[in-house]
Amino acid sequence: MDQGVNLGFIGLKYLVVGSGFFGTVIAERIANDLGEQVVVIDQRSHFGGNSFSAPDDATGIDCHIYGSHIFHTKSSHVWEYINRFCSFNSYRHKVLTNHSGNFYQMPVNLDTINRFFGTAFSPAEARAFVEEEIQRDYFAEPQNLEEKAISLVGRRLYEAFIKGYTAKQWQTDPKLLPADIISRLPFRFSYKIDYFDDPWQGIPLEGYGALFKRMLNQPNIDLLLDTDYFAIRSQIPADCKVIFTGPIDRFFDYRFGILGWRSLRFEKEVLPVSDFQGTTVMNYADEKIPFTRIHEFRHYHDERQYPGDKTVIYREYSLTGTRDTDPYYPVNTSQDQNTYKQYCHLAGQEPNVLFGGRLGTYSYLDMDRVILQALEMYESRIKVGSQM
Ligand code: FAD
Ligand code: UDP
Repeated sequence: MDQGVNLGFIGLKYLVVGSGFFGTVIAERIANDLGEQVVVIDQRSHFGGNSFSAPDDATGIDCHIYGSHIFHTKSSHVWEYINRFCSFNSYRHKVLTNHSGNFYQMPVNLDTINRFFGTAFSPAEARAFVEEEIQRDYFAEPQNLEEKAISLVGRRLYEAFIKGYTAKQWQTDPKLLPADIISRLPFRFSYKIDYFDDPWQGIPLEGYGALFKRMLNQPNIDLLLDTDYFAIRSQIPADCKVIFTGPIDRFFDYRFGILGWRSLRFEKEVLPVSDFQGTTVMNYADEKIPFTRIHEFRHYHDERQYPGDKTVIYREYSLTGTRDTDPYYPVNTSQDQNTYKQYCHLAGQEPNVLFGGRLGTYSYLDMDRVILQALEMYESRIKVGSQM
């Protein structure tokens, strides 16, 4: 990997725009499987996209710069692929939530229900109780996030744990949000506290930063950081294949308007204590608390010896996205979906550009999905094309 060496683009066959998981996997495959030279550019001063992590200067604690990232997958193909570049620790994600000053397990499970209602229900009793709650405000066909959540847990649990958090996180009334957002969150009538059900989970032992470095550190890959595609676009040979993982609306100069994204802001603090909150992620369910959650990164690596007198926390605040903020979550209103369709139509007419990743396809994708989609695109659109 030649970092920051501008070799010029004359004769270049493959350009990857963006060094997140999508771009990095594509580049790694082109370099190692196809045996071809590839240039990767990123407008940021680091590689790894939003999954990047780096050790904090004062403590050495590996921090996920864009918020907590937990690797989890059901795909043996993805797991086998990513394990070629790193080993994972045995971390299993668990989240607590703070409501009215008390701590509860999240997602809502038997412990949350019993603590919230002051009961000692068995799983069957809790199920019957929550069913009664649901029947009080019955929605045969839930039309939005609020109705969907109430139809899953009833109004009282919804108002305590979902309404305020969702309103803060999306800066939108939950009645105006699509129902499917809440489907990402499981509800359980057992004491299971693991956030994810996937068979393979963990955090890269040496951190995401080290993982990306290993994937990109190949003789056939040239990496140019601080390089915006739109500043060098005119230098790219017409027959170069471009894999574009930046925002699709920007690629087409916002011709049909800007796609809606929600953004985030993180406030970092190094505190003179060994342990601030006793867990990696604490959600704050109440609307009057301005941040949505606090991340404490030391807890992602129980296997490491971190300093005993300092810890690093990030408070996470939600922001409405603009052209000048980092896009994090697609808002995906029906207007956004129509606009995206128009951009897709244009994308289909670009003979030498492939669009991928969360920004290129305007979708929320976990890291394993991004890796899988990149591997599929490589096999079906790049490797096949090179052999014709
Ligand atoms: P990105 O990582 O965003 O990479 C795109 C890259 O393109 C960026 O580096 C950007 O700088 C670059 N770029 C854009 N435009 C240009 C341009 N014009 N020129 C040059 N470079 C450009 N997934 C999980 O599996 N587990 C989790 O726990 C998890 N937590 C998450 C938490 C948050 C807060 C968010 C928002 C996402 C989370 N995700 C998680 C999803 C994860 O972040 C994505 O799957 C992953 O980042 C997608 O990779 P990507 O390559 O598509 O995009
Ligand atoms: N959610 C909530 N309370 C919580 C956690 C999540 O209401 O304590 C809702 C919220 O609307 C969120 C959705 O569940 O957008 C999906 O949760 P997930 O953890 O996937 O959120 P993410 O941070 O990835 O959006």
